[in-house]
Amino acid sequence: MVDTVWVFGDQLNRSIGALAEAQPGEVRVLLVELTDALATRRYHRQRLHLVLTAMRRFAAALEADGFEVDHRRAPTLLEGLAEHRREHRPGAVRATEPLSWGLERQLEGAGVDLVRSNQFLCHRSDFAAWAHGRKRLVMEDFYREQRQRLGYLVDGDRPVGGRWNFDAENREPPPRDGRDWPEPLVEPLDEIDFDVLAGLPETAFGADPEGWWPTTRAAALARLDHVVREVLPAFGPHEDAMLTSGAGRNGANAWRLNHTMLSSSLNIGLLLPGEVCDAVEDAYRSGAVPLASAEGLLRQIIGWREYVWGIYWLWMPGYRDLNELGATRPLPPAFAGEAPTAMACVAEALGGIEERGWLHHIQRLMVLANLAMLGGVSPQAMSRWMATSFVDGSEWVMVPNLIGMAMHADGGRMATKPYAGGGAYINRMSDHCRGCRYDPKQRVGEDACPFSTLYWDFLARHRERFAENHRMKRAYANLDRLGDRGRIPARAAEVLALLDEGRL
Ligand code: SF4
Repeated sequence: MVDTVWVFGDQLNRSIGALAEAQPGEVRVLLVELTDALATRRYHRQRLHLVLTAMRRFAAALEADGFEVDHRRAPTLLEGLAEHRREHRPGAVRATEPLSWGLERQLEGAGVDLVRSNQFLCHRSDFAAWAHGRKRLVMEDFYREQRQRLGYLVDGDRPVGGRWNFDAENREPPPRDGRDWPEPLVEPLDEIDFDVLAGLPETAFGADPEGWWPTTRAAALARLDHVVREVLPAFGPHEDAMLTSGAGRNGANAWRLNHTMLSSSLNIGLLLPGEVCDAVEDAYRSGAVPLASAEGLLRQIIGWREYVWGIYWLWMPGYRDLNELGATRPLPPAFAGEAPTAMACVAEALGGIEERGWLHHIQRLMVLANLAMLGGVSPQAMSRWMATSFVDGSEWVMVPNLIGMAMHADGGRMATKPYAGGGAYINRMSDHCRGCRYDPKQRVGEDACPFSTLYWDFLARHRERFAENHRMKRAYANLDRLGDRGRIPARAAEVLALLDEGRL
C-alpha cells in the first residue's frame, strides 16, 4: 500500500513539511480542489483564481518530477479525502500541519498524520515557548529575538548600524514630486488561467486578474528577484503613504507605491520567508539597498508576519470571537459592494479591492478597519470579509490583524492602544482629502469628515476604558479642548445612520 501526502492550497512548495520528505514513486500526492464550499462565501475572483490556478500548476510540476498525483474536485475537503481513500486505499495519509485551526481539527478527526511544518521561520510551538510567562507579547521584543536567532542584519548579537528599528524613517507622507513607481512584473494569462476563471462560482466578485499574482514558484522567485532589484532600494520611507491611483502626477503604479506585493506568494507557499530574508540580507551586504529599507522589509517578514502567525495559534479558537468593544454593526453596504461611497479614501480602497483584491497595510488598517472600529462594525464580520476579499487573505492573517491590531476587539492583549485615527491622519498620509466631498478639518455639520466625527465620538464613548491609558492621554486632552465637542454625538449618530444606509 502506498502512503498519501495531502497538500493544501496554501502549502504549494516541495520544501514544506510532509512533501519535503517524500520521494517520487514512494508516495502518492493528493490535492483537493473545492467546489461547493467556494460558493458558500463571497470570495474575490482573484483570490480563488490564484489558489486554484497555483494548485493546478503545482500538480503538473509534481507530475513532471515523477510523482503520482491525485488532483480531484470535491464539495468539501473531507469528502475529497473519503473519495481518495475509497479509490486508492492508501496505507497512511500524511499532511503538513495546516495553516488553519479549524482544518487541523478536521484532519485530526479524519485520522490524518500531521508532520511538523517549516513554512514559517518560528514554529508555533517555539512562539508559545517565547510567549510563556510574559506579561505582554510585544512584537518588537519578538522581532529582535528573531533577528538574533536567525542572524539577519546582526553583527554578533548587535544590530548592524547600531539600531534595531528604522520605523521612524519609514513614516513619510506621499512624495510631492510626481515620481514614477517601479513597474510590477506581470505574468500573461494562459489557457489554465482562463479555464479556472470560467469555472469560478457566480458568488465570486471583483475584476479578473491581470497577472499581478504569481501562480508558480518560478514566477514567484522572479518576482522576488525583481523586488530586490527594483523595489527594495527605495522601500521604506513612503510605506505608510496613500496615493490616488492614476490621478494627476501619481502615475499608473501609485496604488502599489514601493510595496513588494510578495504576500500572495508567501501565503500560499510559493515563496518561503527565509528566501525573502536571505535576499534582503544579501542585497544589504552587497551595498545595493540602504539599511533602513532592508530593515523595514525584514521587520515585515520575520517581525510582524511571524508574530501574527504565532498569536493566531497561541490564542485560537477563543480569540477570533472576542469583541471587547461590543461592536455589532453589520458590514457597511459600501464594503459589501451594495452601495457607492463619497468618502474618497474609502472609495479608493474599495476600488483597489475590486480591481486587484489587494491594498497595502495602511489602507487596510487606517482606512477600512479604522472606519469599522470607529463605527462599531462587528470585528468578526470584518475579519470574514477581509479574509475572502484579499488575494493574500486567510483566517490566520485576518484574525490577529483585525481582532487584535486594527479593531482592539481583544481589549488590548496585542496592541496597547487602539489604532484609531481621524481625517487629520488620512489627510497627512494621503492625497485623498483634496478630492473628497468631505472636509477632514470639520467634525460637525454636513461636510464633516466621517472619520473626524467618528474618531472624537469613539474617544468620548470609550472614555472610561481608554482615558487612563498613558498613550491616549494627549488625545483626551485634545478632545476636552474642542469647542464643538457637545455637538459631535448628534453628528456621529447621523453619520452612522448614513453608513448603515449606504449613503455616506
Ligand atoms: Fe477620507 Fe475624510 Fe479625507 Fe474624505 S475627508 S478622504 S472621508 S479622510
